[in-house]
Order: sequence, then structure tokens, then C-alpha cells
Amino acid sequence: MAHAPARSVAKANPKPAADSVSSPALDRSGATPMMAQYIEIKAANPDCLLFYRMGDFYELFFGDAEIASRALGIVLTKRGKHAGADIAMCGVPVERSDDYLNRLIALGHRVAVCEQTEDPAEAKRRGPKSVVRREVVRLVTPGTITEDRLLEPGRANLLLAIGRRKLSEEAFAYGLAAVDISTGRFSLSEVPGVELGGAIARHDPREIVLSEAIHADPALARVWQDVTAPVTPLAQAELEPHAAERRIKEQFGVATLEGFGSFTRAEVAAAGAVLLYIERTQIGARPPLNPPTREANGATLAIDAATRANLELTRTLSGGRTGSLLDTIDRTVSASGARLLAEHLSGPLMDLTAIGHRQDAVTWLADDHGLRRALRDALARAPDLARALSRIGLGRSGPRDLAAIRDGLDAAAAISDLLAGAEALPANLEILGEHLRAADPALVESLRAALADDLPLSRRDGGFVRAGHHPGIDEARLLGQDSRKVIAALQARYAEETGCRTLRIKHNNLLGYYIEVPQAVGEACLKGIMRETFVHRQTMVDAMRFTSVELGELETKISGASDRALALETAVFDDLAAQVLAQTETVASVAEALAGLDVAGSHAELAVEQNWTRPRVDDGLAFQVEGGRHPVVEAALRRSGEPFIANECDLSGEGRGRIRLITGPNMGGKSTFLRQNALIAVLAQMGAFVPAAKAHLGLVDRLFSRVGAADDLARGQSTFMVEMVETAAILNQASRRSLVILDEIGRGTATFDGLSIAWACLEQLHEVNACRALFATHFHELTALSQRLARLDNATLKVAEHRGQVVFLHEVVPGVAERSYGLQVARLAGLPASVIGRAGAILKGLEKAERDRPSRPRIDDLPLFASLAPPPPPPEPAPAPDDGLGRLLDAIDPDAMTPREALEALYRLKRARAAQG
Ligand code: ATP
Repeated sequence: MAHAPARSVAKANPKPAADSVSSPALDRSGATPMMAQYIEIKAANPDCLLFYRMGDFYELFFGDAEIASRALGIVLTKRGKHAGADIAMCGVPVERSDDYLNRLIALGHRVAVCEQTEDPAEAKRRGPKSVVRREVVRLVTPGTITEDRLLEPGRANLLLAIGRRKLSEEAFAYGLAAVDISTGRFSLSEVPGVELGGAIARHDPREIVLSEAIHADPALARVWQDVTAPVTPLAQAELEPHAAERRIKEQFGVATLEGFGSFTRAEVAAAGAVLLYIERTQIGARPPLNPPTREANGATLAIDAATRANLELTRTLSGGRTGSLLDTIDRTVSASGARLLAEHLSGPLMDLTAIGHRQDAVTWLADDHGLRRALRDALARAPDLARALSRIGLGRSGPRDLAAIRDGLDAAAAISDLLAGAEALPANLEILGEHLRAADPALVESLRAALADDLPLSRRDGGFVRAGHHPGIDEARLLGQDSRKVIAALQARYAEETGCRTLRIKHNNLLGYYIEVPQAVGEACLKGIMRETFVHRQTMVDAMRFTSVELGELETKISGASDRALALETAVFDDLAAQVLAQTETVASVAEALAGLDVAGSHAELAVEQNWTRPRVDDGLAFQVEGGRHPVVEAALRRSGEPFIANECDLSGEGRGRIRLITGPNMGGKSTFLRQNALIAVLAQMGAFVPAAKAHLGLVDRLFSRVGAADDLARGQSTFMVEMVETAAILNQASRRSLVILDEIGRGTATFDGLSIAWACLEQLHEVNACRALFATHFHELTALSQRLARLDNATLKVAEHRGQVVFLHEVVPGVAERSYGLQVARLAGLPASVIGRAGAILKGLEKAERDRPSRPRIDDLPLFASLAPPPPPPEPAPAPDDGLGRLLDAIDPDAMTPREALEALYRLKRARAAQG
């Protein structure tokens, strides 16, 4: 049995659902029959909150009630006693249960939905004390939801399972099975242990399942720390390899797995785990999953979790989508297109042919404005086929899902016609057009003929079959309508007979149809002419309610007619659903084709709108960007009416410039420049155009981006430790083909420690990794390394000074920054004028002292290649009270200082002066 939602749930809610298991209330002895039933069902689902259906409510009891009332802010009440204690209870109305489910799932809970599976009248017939039969029909968990109201339209809802196989005594390969039940997407891949974190981050799952052994492996502790989705460990015994294979075969109705290609044992284990979990949560219903696609290791640009977060690819550092690269480039017009765009962005390609194909489609769509517009208009009208199809497959669909299939296939046919009429279509758009035509037109015709124009949400509401489509339904409906007319006539007759103009025939669930008259009229009826006809049912405060034999007969006729109509409509529904499911694969491929076209259209639209260009991507090691821009910063600046300054970046070839060291003022634009080049690589390899005037890139196999001293309080690690762990990963993994972006590495420790580390890292990147790299730093000493490292080049960001004010030009130029302009930035930030003035005076003093001190060797003069060991740090000057200020000043080297150290030096000077009296 699955365990309680793990760490993340505990974080979201200090008392997860499983707490209630330990409640002493779960002893059945002495319980009322209903409570005994509840306890039994709860015991079978200890790790879920149990939604126990009672009439129009789902009720929660005991510990579950306490958790839910806290999480949902609903009132906690009591319902009788059990084992001498009050039974806590709270409930949610069935018709609004989706909202509550949504909130509980967002907190990482799982919910077991327990329905009444027989008519209460049936239970009554068994005996006065018998309880209505109930069963858990479904477990609702974050990774297995399918309802539109619970899903984000533009975001995949992935359930990720992880399996593994041993490579050696210590090393494992990890298999990942990613399933989106809501669309049928199913992919398998395998990665080495070091890439597991990055692979999980790429999938961005809503829920993770794995074996207890993997979850408990101390070597992976860091991976789970980074994961925000709930993690559910499954018992090892359930994940036996044969069972995994059997599950895959059963799901796809095949006798052997060979037809899918060859899967590794880790992949089979992962696929088995994912199917086991689906089986368990869907209880019998089997979602229509696409056959698994296998992605070879290395098929996509490897981007680890920290780099993804740092580059804000699909969400910003604060967690939202707004302001991310995805948000900025998304011009899709359909939900499935938005999901595919996110998938492409998360996994840029390594296959030049595939990149070229995607680019061809974008080029063609960018060139033909009229057709692009027409296609995008048609795409915008296409409903979400994949999600509707999945709900139909799970038996959880409504009439609107059938209509979505009808309209989606209709739109696909129209789009296919548009493409067929176009000239010089690139190969992949031609294939796409064929896919769009693949569905049998007879299916659309059947759906069109059967479905009414206005459709109810639920099939239980009836009324969705078009009038004239089914004679039996028409007849039953007519009978229902006729009966209603007869009731109206009966009401008029009774009104006349009683002389009561306010007499009404009404209906409620308890009494069915009844006659209602004011109290006084009622009394008179009972005594007078109506006493033979009216049978008294209820006396209200100011009214009386009756029934009559005629009314009873009519009621039977009416409800019989509507029951019959509904039964016939349901049969029509089931038949249509079966017709759709018979074409599952075709409909799924139409859905994929629509999404693919939407993504290409989105890139084209963006390229035209923002003047982006098609990059040249090949298997060389070039990195040449002319007029490059940062798409997100540019968009933000545009909103405030400011221009973005485009910059060149060339890291090509074997000569100088393969590693570029960037110094420059605070606020100059170093980080922006670094990131824009990383983003250009991502965009190029996902097949999009790039924000540049011209770009030529050799495929990048791994992308690394690190920012020194990023706060990581949530993970409870020292910021410097995190910085070093991440830097270690780069130095250990970056190859010649990688692109590395390092922003102020070494900033989080003492100057000399930091400088030495930054220095040694730069040497390692240059000598060993030999990758393309951009390295921004405030350690100006490092610029001297370019004299000794052949491929290192210096660049800086231009500034102009105007009447003491600094103006950032944001232009990257060859050369070295003279200073960091820390004081100017501090002024811009609003530090009090007195502090700025004083700091300026101190800085002048410090600079003068430095100029007047000829004897001290500069760090640039240290023998760099004499040894790779860091230079011995000069001793920190201690603020001895008897030191002269002059000596203290002499010891200070402003060029070797960060603004913060300058401030510390300032305090030392103050203390020394105070000590002198
Ligand atoms: P620090 O050293 O203080 O971290 P930085 O040099 O890394 O600063 P950024 O954070 O990249 O500077 O840029 C600071 C601001 O300058 C950005 O938020 C943006 O508004 C502006 N900016 C950066 N690059 C450009 C550019 N190329 N064109 C226009 N504005 C830019």
C-alpha cells in the first residue's frame, strides 16, 4: 500500500492525511452500522482523506475532518460519539466538491472519493438497519487528475515514476516514466545518477512515485530536497520486474514489449511503477495512454535544476510563470500548443535534423502572414482534443467532451485544407497536414448529427441528443412535455373546483408532485368537496399540501418518460464515446499535430513581431551572436518605454575569446548579457528563432548557469556551500561542447578565498573543460589572466560619467573595467546623501593611499603559471588601537576589494581613529 504523501505534503500541511490512521476511533467495535462501514473503507485507504458520500455531501470524519477543516477553512462539527469520544465531522457539498478537491490536491493531499453505489431504497428493502452500499470509486491525487476544472489548461500534469538499475557497486542508472493521464502522453528515458535532478526538473512533475529504496538512498537526499512535487514511495514488493512487464503488456494489449523498441530495466521498472499507481488511483478505469516513446539519453540539451531555475525558463525564481522565458515567448493560441511549447522549452534538442525541421516550419509560417493568421484563427477555435479524449477513455466525460472531439476534428480538417492549398510546404508541415486529415470524417458526422447545439455539463442532466436524431428519445420527451401540460390543466381544474386561485401543483424531491393551498383553504378542502379527492401530506406554517390519485398516476408517467429518455440518451452517449475510442490513436495524433502547428505558429508570430532571426545551428563549436538581446528584460524595458541595447557575443573557435571574462560596473548589465546568451542557445536548440540580428551556434550538449551566493535558506544550506556544490558540478561535467555561464562565483566568502577559487575555476574551465564560457566578476584582478590563458578574453560594460553621475550604456566592449561604480549605484539605490558623501571622501583617501604606496606587489604580478596553487593571501590588517591611520590606509588595496570590503575597511578606519582618541 502506498505511503502517506511524503516530505512536501508534510511541509504543506503539518498533519497529513495519514495521521488519522492512528486515531483510536478507527476501532469498529461498538460503532453504528454506518460508522462501521466508514471505518472499514477508511482502513483500506489510510493514506487518503476519505470523501464519504452522504446524500448531497461528501463528509469527512475523525482526523480527516480535522485536517480538511483546517486546510479548507470549513466548520468542524460533531456527529455522535464513538468509543466514548465525539466524532469530528465536516462536509463539502457534492456540487462544489471540485473546488475543495483542487485546494486539497494543491496542498499535496490525496483524496479517496467514496460514492453510494446503490439506491437508498434498495438498502431499505434489505432491512431497517442496513446501510447504503458504498465504494471508493477513485483516488484523486495531484498527478492523476483529469477534470478541466482541476487542471491548468496550458500546463502538462505529469505523474513521474522513477526506477533504477545497478551499473556498478555504487552507480545506478535511473529510468523515468512520465505520464500525463489527462492527455495520454507517455515517455520513457534513462539518465545517469548525476543527471537525475536535472531530468526531474525538466519534467516538472505534479507527483512522483518511486520505490522505497530509491527514496531512502542517502546519495539522492539532495535531489529530493530540490523537488517541490509530492513524492510517494511504493513498497519494493509491489515493484517486482515481472509485474512491471505484465502491466505494460496489459495496458497496451501486447504480448511482448519488443514492438516498442528496447527499454532498459530501469525504464521498465519506472513504467511498471507508473502503471501500478494509475491502476490503484483510477480503480478499474484504464486511461487511454499513447504507446510509450523512448528518448535516448543525450537526446536533449542537458540543463540541471539550478540552471533551469536560474535562467527562469518556465517559471521565475519566485515561482510564478509571469516573467519567465516561457511566458515571454508564448504566442500559442491553444492549451495543447501551450503545453507543447513548455515541453519543447524544457527539452531543447540535440538532433540537428529535427531542429532544422522545426525551423523550416517557423520560417515558412513567418514568411506567409496571411496563411499564418488564418491557421492561427482556426487553431484558436480547436478545443483541447487530448484532454477530452482522455476523459472519454476514463468514462469521466460529459457531452461537451464529445462536442470537443467534433469541433477539434472539424478544425483539424479545415486547417489541413489550408495547408493543402499552400505552396512549397516544408516536409514536416506536409506530414502534419496528413495527420490532421487522418480521422474518419464519418465520426465527425455522427457527432454532429447526434449532439444538440446547447449541451449540459453532465450527461446525467440529459437533453444533449439533438431533436429528431432518435425517435425513441423524441417520443419519451414528448410524453414528458405532454404530461407537464396535463399537470397544468389539472392545476387549473383543481383551482376551479376549490375556488382557490392560488392553488399550485409543485414538485420537490421528498414529496414528488403535490398540491399546495393556503392553510384555511386546505382545512375547508378536507371538510368539504375535496375530501374524497385530496389526500393530506403535510401542514406547513401557512399552507397545506395534498396529493391525489390522478396526480400520483401522472407523476409515474412523467418520471417514467424522463427516465426512459435519459436511458436512451445515455445509450446514444455510450455509442458515440465508443466510436471516438475506436479512433483513439488517430484522434491523439490529430491532437499532437494541432499542438505542433500551434507551437511553430507561435515562434513565427513572435519572430515577426519582435524581429527575431533564424539561427544557424550546426555541429561545430561556434557561438557567434550579433545584436543579441535578452527577451525578458527587453520586454520589461519596452513596457516602460526604454530601449534595450543589443550586444555581440563571440565565443567561437579555438583562438582567443572562447572564454570571456566580463568585468564592469554594478548595474552595467553583466548578468543580463550572460543570461541572454544562454537563452539564445536554448531557443536555438528548441527550434525557435532567436532575439538577435544574426546567430551561429554549434550544438551545446550541456548548459550551466550559476550565480554566486544565491540565497538558499529554504534548503537550509549555507549560500557559499550551495555555490561551491554547484560550481563543482560544472567543473566535473562540462565538456568542450558545453556552455557555461558563471556570474560572480566566489562572492560569498572572504575576498582572497573567493578570488582564489574564481581564479582556479577559470583556469580549470580553460585548461580542462575547454568549454565556451562567460564569466562575470567584480574581481578585477582576474582580467590579468588573459595574458597567460590563450583563449581567455576580457570584455566590459561601457559607462559614461556626466557631472559626477554615472550613465550605464549597457554596451559590451573589449577591455577591462576600471572600477565598479559601487558608490554611484548606492546613490541610485537611495542611500542617504550623508553616507554617500562620507563614503566618497573615504574612497578618495583609500585611492590616494593606494597610489602613494609603490612598494606593495600587485596581485597581477604574481606568477600565475609557476604553480596553480592560489597565491598566498597577504595578512588581513588588524585594527590595533596604536596603529596609525596612515599605516592602516597603506594596507588597503581598493582595486582588490568588493564594495562590501571597502565598507568593512571603512569601519576599521573608524575604529582605529576612535582608539586614537
Ligand atoms: P550587478 O553587478 O550589480 O549584479 P549587472 O552588471 O549584473 O549588475 P544587470 O543586473 O545585468 O547588471 O542589469 C541591471 C539592469 O540594467 C537591468 O535590470 C536592466 O534594466 C538594465 N540592462 C541590462 N542590460 C541592458 C541592456 N543591454 N540594454 C538596456 N538595459 C539593460
